[in-house]
Amino acid sequence: MLAEVCSVAFALTNMLDSTLRTIALTTKGFMPEAEGDALFVAARSACEALPGLPMVEVGSYCGRSTVWLGAVAREWGTVLHAVDHHGGSEENQAGWEWHDPEIVNTQGRIDTLPFFRQTMQRAGLSDVVRECVGDSHSIGAAWREPLALCFVDGGHARAVARGDYEAWAQHVAIDGLLVIHDVFEDPADGGQAPFEEIYLPALHSGRFVERSRSGSLRVLQRTSR
Ligand code: SAH
Ligand code: MG
Repeated sequence: MLAEVCSVAFALTNMLDSTLRTIALTTKGFMPEAEGDALFVAARSACEALPGLPMVEVGSYCGRSTVWLGAVAREWGTVLHAVDHHGGSEENQAGWEWHDPEIVNTQGRIDTLPFFRQTMQRAGLSDVVRECVGDSHSIGAAWREPLALCFVDGGHARAVARGDYEAWAQHVAIDGLLVIHDVFEDPADGGQAPFEEIYLPALHSGRFVERSRSGSLRVLQRTSR
């Protein structure tokens, strides 16, 4: 009885456990807590609907959002492929708004891979999170497995965002989820690339419908081929 009550309570909380939450929130990155929680809920529903199918994250940086997704991969016995060249996006480079000098290596280049690895180790997720280090467009172009969920949070230059849509949206299985971060309908709130180059093309393709939103996170579900 107690076990049943506990498992119902667990299912209802729909939250990352407190140890992993602390790790996520102390990891460098750009995922607000409430949106991380919305990502977690989306990932759970995708893994429940499509048991055994993997998930992909495009844009891991130091592994902050990866903790929420990796926890779901562990819970559902699947894997998360974490795609990033770890060289930083345009907006992370020196002189840009989102530059952090602490992630620059001894050769003067951004390298978030050591930070990403350390986060996965601290979170105990290294076995369910597979590093996929390289350009997201070429990795997506060669990809063959259908996905329960694809979370797109890579570069926000227009061509990069468009390339991510073209490389990855097709791999989301029917009933699977395409989750997009940094979608701003109003240019006053942020850059337009994820909105105009990923979100709108997905909806206009007729293959995706919107299921939920939280902050700048949009959860779309694939409904047809
Ligand atoms: N999800 C992260 C933030 C990602 S920032 C968080 O929760 O904090 C965007 C990431 O996309 C950066 O780490 C950058 O290296 C990566 N990126 C940008 N363009 C890319 C490309 N073409 N291929 C692979 N990774 C790319
Ligand atoms: Mg983002």
